[in-house]
Parts: sequence; C-alpha cells; structure tokens
Amino acid sequence: MAHNSSAGRSNGAIALPERAPNRIAPDENVHVFWLNGMGCEGCSISFAGASNPAMEQFQWGTLPGIPKVILHHPMFSEHSGDAFTEPYRQAAAGRLGAPYIVVLDGSVPDDEALPSAEGYFSAMGAGGISSHTGSDRPDRVTEWLYRLAPGALATMAMGTCASWGGIPAAAGNITGSMSLMDFLGGNYRSSWNIPVINVPGCAPVGDNFTETLAGLLHWAAGIGPPPEFDELGRPAWQFGETVHRHCPKAGYYEEGVFAEAPGDNMCLVEIGCWGPVVQCNIVERGAVNHMGGCMVAGGACIGCTMPGFPDKYAPFHKPPPGSAISGGISKVYGGAIRRLRRMSMKTGNREPLWDNADEVPSAWAGAVGPRSGTDRFAAYFYKKLQYNGTVHHGNRYKKQPLPKSRDILTQKGIDHTQSVDVLRERSLPREEI
Ligand code: SF4
Ligand code: SF4
Repeated sequence: MAHNSSAGRSNGAIALPERAPNRIAPDENVHVFWLNGMGCEGCSISFAGASNPAMEQFQWGTLPGIPKVILHHPMFSEHSGDAFTEPYRQAAAGRLGAPYIVVLDGSVPDDEALPSAEGYFSAMGAGGISSHTGSDRPDRVTEWLYRLAPGALATMAMGTCASWGGIPAAAGNITGSMSLMDFLGGNYRSSWNIPVINVPGCAPVGDNFTETLAGLLHWAAGIGPPPEFDELGRPAWQFGETVHRHCPKAGYYEEGVFAEAPGDNMCLVEIGCWGPVVQCNIVERGAVNHMGGCMVAGGACIGCTMPGFPDKYAPFHKPPPGSAISGGISKVYGGAIRRLRRMSMKTGNREPLWDNADEVPSAWAGAVGPRSGTDRFAAYFYKKLQYNGTVHHGNRYKKQPLPKSRDILTQKGIDHTQSVDVLRERSLPREEI
C-alpha cells in the first residue's frame, strides 16, 4: 500500500502529517457515524465501557482541546427511524455541513455481489441513501459505507471483524465477509488523506478506540501532535509490542513453570497461549477501566487482534507448535535459574542478626528452621561474588555483637508461653505455616 508522501516515520511507525490538511474550528462539532456490519455488537459494548476517555466525554465536549462529538449510533442514539438515518443521508449527499468520521464495527459482507439488488446480509434503515425514496427496501450497510467513506475526515474500523474480517470471514463463511480495508481498497484515502485506521480486538479494548479517536481529533483541531500508525493502520503506540512482553505471567515463562489446566496460576503457553507472537496491549491497559485482560483473568491468548484470527490460531485448545521448543528450553534454563533464585530469596528473607544467632525469633518461624549446610555454602559464594571489589558486608555482619536486650521476655523471666499456646490454638499447626 502506498503511503502519504508527507507522512513522517519514526521507529517504524507512520505519523500523519505534522499539520492537518484542514483544521476543525474550536466551536465546530464533529459527527461520528457508527455502522454495524457482520458482528456481535461486542465492539459497541467495548466503546460504551471505555473510561479513559469515555464516550460521554466526547459527547459533552469536556475533553480539553477536543471538539465536541455528535454521536450517531444504532444502539445508543435516542432517535430511531428516519429521524435517526436523516443525518447519515445528509452526510452521504454532501449536505451535512460539518466534518464527520465513519466508524464500522463488524465485517463487511459481500452483498454488493448478490444477484438480487434487494438482497443483503447487513442493513440499516430503508428507503434509499442519497435521498429518501419512500420505499421500504432495506439500505445495505455496504452502500452506506461506500457513499460515506470518501467524504469522511477519517474512516475507522472498530474491532477485528471490521479491521481484518474476523470470525464472519473465517473459512466456510457464506457471506463473503471481509475487512473495511479489503472493501474500500488499498487506494482509499479519506477527504483528509488518511487511510483506514484499524483498532483490532475481539472485543477490542474500548480505551484503545477512544484514545485513538481523541488523538485524531486533537490533531484535527490543530492542537495535538500527529498520531502514529503502523503499516496496517494500527495505532503504533498500542500495538507495537507482543502481549507476552507485558504479561503478568511472563516471569513464570522465564522460570519454566507452566500451567497444566485453565485456572492454574502459571504461564499458559502449554495450554494454547499465543501471546509471544501476538501484538496486543490488553494486559497493560486492562479490558475495562484498567481492570482485567486475558492473562490477568487467567485466559490464554488466542490471537484475536491479529489479521490471521481466527483460522491461523485454531484449534484454540492446542498449544502453538513453537511452544514445544521455546517452552522446553525455558524449562531447562528456567528450572535452574528458578532454584538459584529461591536460594537467594531464602538468604534475603533473614536479618543478618538471625544468621549470627542462628535462629528466627518468631513463633511463626517453625517452618523456617535453621539454615541448612547447602544454604550456608551457597550464601558464602554468593556473597563473595556480590561484594567482590567492594566492602564485604557479610563479614561486617559477623563482627556485629548480638544486641544485649534481645529476647527480653526470657531475660526478665516473664512467662510468655501462654500467648504462644493461644497462637497455636487459633492458627495453623506450626508444621503447616
Ligand atoms: S501466559 Fe502467554 S503471554 Fe503470558 S507469559 Fe505465558 S505465553 Fe506469554
Ligand atoms: S491477549 Fe490475545 S486473546 Fe486477549 S485480547 Fe489480546 S490478542 Fe485477544
């Protein structure tokens, strides 16, 4: 796909031009025309759940420097029937008199190719698009799209179905479903010279979409910097990393500890996680209001943000073939590293004073016990390396006298065994602590 020659590039990302070709005036409103194609409406739910920024903030015009948005949405608008579709018609006919953005959720069916002019897979309203003819023939979403997209400030695909075709375009589908990019073609540019913007995910993170919309409008108002996109039109700052790099279970992967069943706390690669090769930010961003996200909630990654989803990641119950190699290496390497780390952790879990006295002065410490010979041996060499070329704190600790008032209750002859017994009764037996 050819790119706008005036676009800037940094770190492989493609920025919109520094100066927008037009500028939205401070008192001007921007219309957002939402269309539903072949989808489940999950993307609209994600949009409604976005919190930073939230849908309402656009509509109230309370986002500093960002024009107020007039949202036209089949589910959320208060109007219905012709009152709802009339602004769409005005925009399609070039009579709106205000800038607008087209958003599609769901994929685009191949119904323009149907033999009957009246056939459709996905429709919105009835009676004609350029002008109302009074007929009751449903208006195809595909027709709304090709009439609205050329005049739009920008055209945005919300979710994986709109971005890449998604589940409705999976092998065996009878609708010929495709992505918005496929439908409009590689030469498509909006009236502001912007190719299709894709915010994938099934369902996408709502904040990813609203943040991209905010960045776009900030730039269009002549205030914000140009947003950057990758070579497939994804917001570059959101989709530049694999989900694995920021996964809360990545430490388990590195130490070679893997889940055997869903719900286990460890890395999920052996039960089907594709995270190491999937571009997604859900574990940093959270699913809704910075909470949740697949691995945070215990789910393996099935690659739902990727153009190859779902067919290239199926069957979802099988581990990715590459995981046998990377997971196997990680088990050997990570297993050794993990054991060494446990030894260091044991040492760090003891005051130097406890090492000198060779006891942990707490009734909780029954499970800790005195240090084993192996632990002492490992700690000796570890400290040698740690303090090599600097002050050897290990030796300084050893010379430190034990505090005189240590174990004061015993020294004063105060009977404290009663409280220990109470502790024993009320809590777990020592062996289990
Ligand atoms: S659960 Fe998946 S994304 Fe997380 S560390 Fe394991 S392989 Fe990587
Ligand atoms: S972690 Fe994987 S399955 Fe979850 S949202 Fe991201 S791409 Fe989709």
